Amino acid sequence: MPPRSSTPFRGRSAFTLIELLAVIAVVALLAGLLFSALTHVRAMAQQAQCANNLRELARLAQLQSAENGGRVPQGMWYYEGSVARPNLWDYGMTEELIQCASTELPRSYGINLNVIKPNNGTNWGGSGDPNFWKYGAYGYDQLDPVKTVLFADTFHTTTGYYYVNSVHADYRHGDKMQVSYVDGHVGLVTREEVEVDQILQDGLPN
Ligand SMILES: [Zn+2]
Repeated sequence: MPPRSSTPFRGRSAFTLIELLAVIAVVALLAGLLFSALTHVRAMAQQAQCANNLRELARLAQLQSAENGGRVPQGMWYYEGSVARPNLWDYGMTEELIQCASTELPRSYGINLNVIKPNNGTNWGGSGDPNFWKYGAYGYDQLDPVKTVLFADTFHTTTGYYYVNSVHADYRHGDKMQVSYVDGHVGLVTREEVEVDQILQDGLPN
């Protein structure tokens, strides 16, 4: 005996194809919104981690200045190869501290080239100044604490360039480069805003 057949379906189905497609579209839209919100939250968290790093680096640089003629750090501030080149490792710096969360590149910050080498460039490479590898070109009392950039997001491909100028500036936070100033506050530099060379010379002695 055949099973009792159910009542033949005569009304409209619970979902027409159009309605089903509409539901799928709405779900896809919501998933897209959620994804972009999460991406944004992640970018904000990375930027905050980077800001903490840059702030702390500025603080360590100030600590080392007390034992180094009141000057900013020397150019190869995370170089470990020579005791003749005092670096920030001696003041509590860690690999985590010099790693910006927005990049895979280790040691992803540089010191402002203009504070380790006078603008005339005669001391670059150590020639002419016996103290070149001991500390940077300027003392803290010569720099504008609010205007002078000390550390910044730096682009490099291998082991780091130690310093930042317009060539090595890395705009990795939503097309902005994060920097810390001499007094330790942080800021974002927009690629289009002003020539980055100009920004990196702000607050230096004439
Ligand atoms: Zn960063």
